[in-house]
Amino acid sequence: MISVKNLYKSFGSHQVLNDINEHIAPGEKIVIIGPSGSGKSTFLRCMNLLERPTSGQVIFDGIDITDPKTDINKVRQHMGMVFQHFNLFPHKTIMENITLAPVRLKLMKPEEAKEEALRLLKLVNLEEKADAYPGQLSGGQKQRIAIVRSLAMKPKMMLFDEPTSALDPEMVGEVLEVMKNLADQGMTMAVVTHEMGFAKEVGTRVMFMDEGRILEQGTPEDIFDNPKEARTQEFLSKVL
Ligand code: ATP
Ligand code: MG
Repeated sequence: MISVKNLYKSFGSHQVLNDINEHIAPGEKIVIIGPSGSGKSTFLRCMNLLERPTSGQVIFDGIDITDPKTDINKVRQHMGMVFQHFNLFPHKTIMENITLAPVRLKLMKPEEAKEEALRLLKLVNLEEKADAYPGQLSGGQKQRIAIVRSLAMKPKMMLFDEPTSALDPEMVGEVLEVMKNLADQGMTMAVVTHEMGFAKEVGTRVMFMDEGRILEQGTPEDIFDNPKEARTQEFLSKVL
C-alpha cells in the first residue's frame, strides 16, 4: 500500500525524521506512539506530502509521490486524513461538507454523492444532522463527520493524527467506535494516538517513535507486554 524509503525531514537545522524505512501492507492497522516532539505527526504528514520530505521516497500504490512530476492532489484523493481538529467548513451544512469534494472533483454526480453521504451518515448514527451546521454539533459528532467526509472520497488508506485528543472524555468512545468499525471492514490505517486501549485492540502493528526514528515496533503484545528498549519502557510507564 505505502512504502517509505530513507525518509528524512528537517525544519531548518532541526532534524525531525531520521532515516525511516517502512512498508505498510493493505489491511494493516498501524498505531504510532511516542513522546511529544518525536516526529509522529511529521511522519504521518510526509506520507501524503502535507510535509515534503527533505530526502527519501514515499511510494503509494506503486506511485512515487515524492517525484515532482506526480500530481499529488490526485494521489491524496485516495488517502483520507483526519486531524485532532475537525477542519469542517463552518458555513456549510454537514451534507455540503461531505459532498463538496467528491462533486467538485467530479468523482460523483451531486445526487450520487448525496446518497453516499446519507449512507455514511447512517453508519455513524448522524443522519439527522445532514442539514445542521458544524457549530450545532458536539466535538465527538464533528469528528465522526470529519471521518465520514474522508470516507466519501472512497480512500484506499486512512491517516489519523490524534483524532480524539481534542475531545471531552465522554466523546472519545464514540469516535473510537467508528474507527474500530472501519478497521473491521478492512481499511488500511495509520493512527497516531494516545489511546492505548485502542492500540491494543485494533492495532496489527505498533510503532514506537523516539527522536525521529522508529525505535521499536511489533504486535501490541510485543510493545505493551515486552518492550525491549529502555525508552519504550520509560514512555509506557508514563502512559499506561
Ligand atoms: P506531539 O505528540 O506533540 O504531537 P509529534 O511526535 O507529533 O508531537 P511533530 O509534530 O512531528 O511531533 O514534531 C516533531 C518536531 O518537529 C518538533 O520538535 C516540532 O517542533 C518540529 N516541527 C514540526 N512541524 C514543524 C514546522 N512546520 N516547522 C518547524 N518545526 C516543526
Ligand atoms: Mg503530533
